[in-house]
Amino acid sequence: MHELSIVMNIIDIVDREVAQAGGGKVEDVELDIGLLSTVQMEAFDFAWQQGVRNTILQDAGLTVNHIDGSAHCNDCDANFRVDEVFDPCPACNGHFIRITAGKELRVRSLTII
Ligand SMILES: [Zn+2]
Repeated sequence: MHELSIVMNIIDIVDREVAQAGGGKVEDVELDIGLLSTVQMEAFDFAWQQGVRNTILQDAGLTVNHIDGSAHCNDCDANFRVDEVFDPCPACNGHFIRITAGKELRVRSLTII
């Protein structure tokens, strides 16, 4: 499952961060997940519950920030919100757009106690 490998990847990142911080217990982890990323939230929640067992994140709280998709049109310079990566520009109907937000998948912050 794609989402489980994402969770494993997050655990690796957190492991490294905690080691760098000199150890400790993770109280909270905050993630940014863009709405244009390939993550299915239902599958992600399930993968999280399964994946963090017996890891450093077992008892950590999880906060997910969902980042809206936005894009810039290279034809008419409009900035707009997108729900799908292949949506055209709403101002000029052009397809020459650049996604500027919404593909995030990252650990935003960690609370280590
Ligand atoms: Zn445009």
